[in-house]
Amino acid sequence: MNLFDVYPLFDIEIAKGIGCRTYDNNGIEYLDLYGGHAVISIGHSHPYYVQKLTQQLEKLVFYSNSVQNKFQKELAEKLGALSGYEDYSLFLVNSGAEANENALKLASFHTGRTKVIAFNKSFHGRTSAAVRVTDNPKIVAPINEGFEVEFFALNDIDSVRKSLNNNDVCAVIIEGIQGVGGIKIPEVSFLEELSVACKATGTILIIDEVQSGYGRSGKFFAHQYANIRPDLITIAKGMGNGFPIGGLLISPMFEATYGMLGTTFGGNHLACVAAIAVLDIMKVERLTENAQTIGNYLMEELKKIPQIKEVRGLGLMIGIEFEQPIKEIRTKLLFDKKIFTGVTGTNVIRLLPPLCLSKSDANHFLTSFKEVILSTLTD
Ligand code: PLP
Repeated sequence: MNLFDVYPLFDIEIAKGIGCRTYDNNGIEYLDLYGGHAVISIGHSHPYYVQKLTQQLEKLVFYSNSVQNKFQKELAEKLGALSGYEDYSLFLVNSGAEANENALKLASFHTGRTKVIAFNKSFHGRTSAAVRVTDNPKIVAPINEGFEVEFFALNDIDSVRKSLNNNDVCAVIIEGIQGVGGIKIPEVSFLEELSVACKATGTILIIDEVQSGYGRSGKFFAHQYANIRPDLITIAKGMGNGFPIGGLLISPMFEATYGMLGTTFGGNHLACVAAIAVLDIMKVERLTENAQTIGNYLMEELKKIPQIKEVRGLGLMIGIEFEQPIKEIRTKLLFDKKIFTGVTGTNVIRLLPPLCLSKSDANHFLTSFKEVILSTLTD
C-alpha cells in the first residue's frame, strides 16, 4: 500500500532526539528550530518525561472513560494552576482540530446559533471553521458542516462589531497568534474590544491556542498579553511534547451535562501522564520565561540583519519575512548547516523551536543564518 501523498517530505529520516537536537539514521546531528510544527515544548526525549511514560506504559495505556482516571484530575489541576485558569473546566481530546470542533459544538449548544466568525489567513485545523491560508480554490473552500463561516481581516474591529450586532453569531474563533497564516499577532486593543463585543452580543469567544499556547509566546497563552478571559480556549501540540493530546478550557458559565461531548481516546492514561510530565518540566525549568528571554534576544538580533524585510512574533514563535522566496535559504539551512526551520507562505521562515532553546543554540543559528543569507542573496 502507498501513502496518500498530500504533503512534501525531505529525504531525511530522524531516528533520535535529545533536547533541541535531532539525529538522522546516519547519526548526523540537526538543530531543531521547528519542533515538528510547534509540538516539541520541553525538548526531545527529556529524561523525566521518558521515565514517567515508561513507568505508565508498563502499567496501563488506556481504559475506557467509564471509570475514574486520577491522571485527568491531576492534569486539570496542574494546568489550571500554571495557566491561571483554575476556575475553568477541562475536556480532553486528541488533537487541535478535535479541540476546535468541540469548542464550536459547545458554542452552538450554548447559543443555539450556527454562524461563526473567523479571520483571513486563519488556520484551525481541518474543521468546520475551515482554513483561509491560501488562494488555491481547491483548498480554501470553507468546509461548512452545519456552520456558516464569515471571514474578516484581522484587527478590523468595526466590521466584526457590525456583524456581531446582528445578534446571530454563535462564536468568534481566533488564534492567539496566527501560525500557518504567517505569524500575525492580533492587536491587544483588538482582542479587548472583541471580547467586549462578544459579551455584549451573547457570542462565544474561542481563542485557538493550539500553536501559540503552552508557553510558546512567553506567556502561558498568547492572548494573556491582553486583558481578556475567553469563553473557550483550545490547546494541543506542545501539550504532550509529541504524544497526541488536546483539550478545551471551558469557562464556568458552561454547564456540563452527560452526553454533551464525548470521546473514545481523549484523556487516556498515557496521554495524561505525558501532559503532566510536560507541565512539571515547564514549571521546574521555567520554560515559559526562557521562551520570552531567548525569543526576545533572537528577534532583536534578527532585526539587525539588513536583508530581512520584517521580523514578527512573541517568545519562540517567530516569523522572518523576506522580499523574495525563502526556499533556497531554508534548504541551505537544512542541508548545509543542519538546522531545521519551518515556513509559511513563500517568503516567511517560521521558527517554533523547543522552549528550552539556549542562547548558544540561538547564536549558532544566527551565525549560520547570516552565512546562508549572504551566500544566497549575493550569489
Ligand atoms: N489550530 C491551529 C492554530 C493550528 O496551528 C493547528 C495545526 O497546525 C490546528 C488547530 C490543528 O491541529 P491538529 O493538526 O492537531 O489537528
